[in-house]
Amino acid sequence: MTEEAPDPKTRNPPWTRDELLIALDLYLRHRPRFLEPHSPEIQEASALLNRLGAALGVEGRATYRNANGVAMKLMNLKSLDPTASGKGLSSASRGDAEVWAAYAHRPAELAAVVARIREGLAVPPPPILEEEEEEFVAVEGRLLTRLHRRRERDPKIVRRKKEQTLKARGALACAACGFDFQKTYGDLGAGFLEAHHTTPLSEAQESVQTKLADLALLCANCHRMIHRAKPWLSVAALKALLEQERLAEAVSSGRSRAGGGR
Ligand SMILES: [Zn+2]
Ligand SMILES: [Zn+2]
Repeated sequence: MTEEAPDPKTRNPPWTRDELLIALDLYLRHRPRFLEPHSPEIQEASALLNRLGAALGVEGRATYRNANGVAMKLMNLKSLDPTASGKGLSSASRGDAEVWAAYAHRPAELAAVVARIREGLAVPPPPILEEEEEEFVAVEGRLLTRLHRRRERDPKIVRRKKEQTLKARGALACAACGFDFQKTYGDLGAGFLEAHHTTPLSEAQESVQTKLADLALLCANCHRMIHRAKPWLSVAALKALLEQERLAEAVSSGRSRAGGGR
């Protein structure tokens, strides 16, 4: 297995996760058929990868994700396929192995992710992630992460979500841990919570408008923890995790009180 580095022959940048998802989808759809570089499938994928590279700001050479490169990538993926015969000499990179492990057994979900990436390329490009957000890029890749961030930062719908919640509950509290910024920070914290879009990335169609019910209001900590997990956690899963930690904490502090009478 080779490390991620520019291709020594073409000096093109290593394949990003988004690109590998597209390549793996293509491979799984057509195996065991070998796709020639001049086949329409490879040509289409090469064009798609070039549009994606442009959207993600990847700098490549004239040969960037050309038909030969795509066909070669399918050979790399084939070398990971236990059902394939005649593996040849091509070796897979760590990135190849990661997408294989994540999606080779879930072709339908992968197809949905790739469909969302295609849709994402048809809309105005989402803003580039800030450096501190880069570490929370989803297993579904950078483009879908950016679209998620744009959806949940739409100021109009976030304001409406907060108004609706305030009206219904009389206060704004984190949907996972219950933290209320106003209770802790007074007027400074009034109205402060972040919105998280709860639709899984593979289902979040660009043509579908965000509904208030799609958003969960979270404190900054809980929101970051959801995005830190791979794959991202659901709000319910984070809530369960917090509950579990609270119980564990209660048990261990009870134990130390009981045993602490020295
Ligand atoms: Zn919270
Ligand atoms: Zn979010």
